[in-house]
Amino acid sequence: MDRYAVVGHPVAHSLSPRIHAAFAQATGERMRYEAVEAPLDGFVATVDGLIAAGLRGLNVTVPFKGEACAYAARIDPLAARAGAANTLRVEEDGSVAAFNTDGAGLVRDLEANLGIPLAGARVVMLGAGGAAAGAVEALLRAGVGELIVGNRSPERAEALALRFAALGPVRAERMESLEAADLLVNATAASLGGRQPSLAAGLVRPHTRVYDMMYGSAARPFLERCARLGAASVHDGLGMLVEQAAEAFALWRGRRPGTAGVLAALRADTASETPSPDRETP
Ligand code: NDP
Repeated sequence: MDRYAVVGHPVAHSLSPRIHAAFAQATGERMRYEAVEAPLDGFVATVDGLIAAGLRGLNVTVPFKGEACAYAARIDPLAARAGAANTLRVEEDGSVAAFNTDGAGLVRDLEANLGIPLAGARVVMLGAGGAAAGAVEALLRAGVGELIVGNRSPERAEALALRFAALGPVRAERMESLEAADLLVNATAASLGGRQPSLAAGLVRPHTRVYDMMYGSAARPFLERCARLGAASVHDGLGMLVEQAAEAFALWRGRRPGTAGVLAALRADTASETPSPDRETP
């Protein structure tokens, strides 16, 4: 039976083992998937050990996505431009290839699951870390009209926008100057620390749809706040998590699993915990 794992620190909370078990069952693929916590200074040794033990692929999560890029012998161009990889695949010759499926997962959730049109949209993204870097190219390829990045440390937003400027209409703006968005994406890690990014007055308008890459109860305060500001709808990042997992599964197994069933099951489990995400606001 082929083995896979997610490597992170911490990783005990990860929903990935459950998601991939559901994919394997639905597709009949014979595989096992586990969660492995690597010491903060031990990513390479941990991955070396897992590959030596015969694992065929890994998902990589916080804080190792940059190290995952450096680890691989071959880096998919999209992951290379993002400077972050969330998926490693052991090739037939034993070499390791790195990919980033976060952006594709985000776009798939927005367009296919939530019906949020991206073509021509004015998108404002808060945050300039690894998740934001993974999202920029996918959003540009989806044909957004304009992508404006704001970040607490403005120089990081500027550097990110500059890095992708050749690929489409992306630019940085200071947080306090951000203006009305069709879609507002929170790609900050603020809520991990129980905080929220600042929101410029007028950024959330009655037509604004709001997406937080965070999911579960941690996403709730930001989404509730945007709902109070009159957003058209608010959505958490659970669908992105499931869709990026499906992309990784396809890279490993050569077939993309359906996602609706597992997403509905996870949503039902977290419904009592997070009554607000994924809803149209009145
Ligand atoms: P990083 O650590 O790489 O980046 C963190 C970002 O958040 C930086 O832009 C940072 O700003 C900003 N930030 C942190 N604290 C605050 C704060 N208090 N106020 C304002 N901005 C803040 O994290 P990632 O990019 O890897 O992850 C970001 C989020 O996306 C996380 O919540 C993660 O869980 C989520 N995520 C969800 C996925 C999914 O599938 N749903 C996939 C990947 C990520 P500064 O530069 O100023 O430090």
